[in-house]
Amino acid sequence: MSEPKYKRILLKLSGEALMGEQAGGIDPDTIQRLAGEIDELCQAGVQVGLVIGGGNLIRGAEKVSDGLERVTADHMGMLATVINALAMQDALEHVGRQVRVMSALKINQVCEDYIRRRAVRHLEKGRVAVFAAGTGNPFFTTDSAASLRAIEIKADLLIKATKVDGVYSADPLKDPNARFYARLTYDEALDQRLNVMDATALVLCRDHRMPLRVMNVFQPGAVMRLVQGEDIGSLIETGKS
Ligand code: UDP
Repeated sequence: MSEPKYKRILLKLSGEALMGEQAGGIDPDTIQRLAGEIDELCQAGVQVGLVIGGGNLIRGAEKVSDGLERVTADHMGMLATVINALAMQDALEHVGRQVRVMSALKINQVCEDYIRRRAVRHLEKGRVAVFAAGTGNPFFTTDSAASLRAIEIKADLLIKATKVDGVYSADPLKDPNARFYARLTYDEALDQRLNVMDATALVLCRDHRMPLRVMNVFQPGAVMRLVQGEDIGSLIETGKS
């Protein structure tokens, strides 16, 4: 196995990545496969921080149309990410990997509080740190949480694992003429309103020069090939200033 190019990564999985072929919830085979891949990264010497979304269970903004107050709906969304984090903890423990779930909201009987120095220590010891409950604040997304945690833990790379191969000019699942971007800057993504991450997350990464890869999580082994240096997905970086 070749030496990994990145020593510490922050991997962002959307809640949908856990659904497999299901319409929602957590598919046991899918989460176990993902846990196996994350364990292989750790075995290769990569320190892995994880942020998992909650869209497979609850998205706050969508609940507002059902009549829920936004802040309450976002609290529900953040708790959904804790449920996903606990499921991933269990799946990782099944393959023998040590894990710590660290929550931005205090739920001490369920998991640890997020404390940056402790998180870094877990990573140094080869444990997967799963950052749950997003940023702990309503009106944010788990993409923003992933950007924030990647910067805080000084990750070498933020990886956004999605359903598509990278960044396109339009949704490639709907538009066959959608153009693929192998490389782009955060300003290009912001100016062209490309569907990469929300603007808060993009600006955070841009201003702190955190490189981002957007890639397809449904290609088995792709994350490992990426950390070994293969040019997979789209690379978004801060431009020259
Ligand atoms: N959320 C929040 N603050 C955060 C992160 C998430 O309020 O810092 C809530 C928000 O309601 C969001 C939900 O949690 O819709 C689930 O996160 P997200 O939609 O980012 O999940 P994904 O689309 O990645 O599965």
